[in-house]
Amino acid sequence: MSHDEARKIRLIMGLRRGGITDSRVLGALERVPREIFVDPAFLDQAWEDRALPIAQGQTISQPFVVAFMTQALHLTDRTKVLEIGTGSGYQAAVLAKVARRVYTIERHKELMATAEARFAKMGLHNLHTRIGDGWRGWPEQAPFEAIIVTAAASEVPQALLDQLGEGGRLVIPVGRSSDVQKLVRYRRTADGIVEEPLLDVRFVPLVPGEVKSEARRKA
Ligand code: SAH
Repeated sequence: MSHDEARKIRLIMGLRRGGITDSRVLGALERVPREIFVDPAFLDQAWEDRALPIAQGQTISQPFVVAFMTQALHLTDRTKVLEIGTGSGYQAAVLAKVARRVYTIERHKELMATAEARFAKMGLHNLHTRIGDGWRGWPEQAPFEAIIVTAAASEVPQALLDQLGEGGRLVIPVGRSSDVQKLVRYRRTADGIVEEPLLDVRFVPLVPGEVKSEARRKA
């Protein structure tokens, strides 16, 4: 058995012990080659259960958090899911293995170009990408049965709640502090939106607006 293979098995066992019981989620983490999503400098840590730095000062999430959020979305092979914050593309690739169709939005076009090359390398064809501001969601494709935000929002974007279909789930880290945020699941029911806190997490911020406006501010 290769070194990587042994590390992978250890990681999957750790996820199981940590409460990831959905076998489709565990199977997806086993099959998505995390080594193609990390920076070459961190290749030796690709199968460790930790977040790692990627380009543009962003991070690829910790496998446990990817698995936990994916499980919390209750996906089936018929679900249409929206992700905000493509980053390395790793979470999107995991979603693509579990759901029917994945829509993913990233504000940095360089990150998206790299992620798209990885999706092509994996031969994933059920992923749709968009460069833009995820605060606004993807109204043309709404409603979604599941929405996942992989950056911390100071408050829940109303547009994302609006784009949830009946029975739909939104999983999002919420909080103003950069140290710790609360992972929250919102569900749209016949009686309105139900909110459930899930876990303390730490994510890079969800930045409102397009990249262009930020460049202008810096100049
Ligand atoms: N899901 C990613 C984690 C990415 S980190 C992975 O598996 O690697 C969060 C990402 O959210 C960053 O790439 C950041 O650029 C992006 N982001 C932050 N604010 C955003 C916004 N308003 N719209 C779209 N993407 C945003």
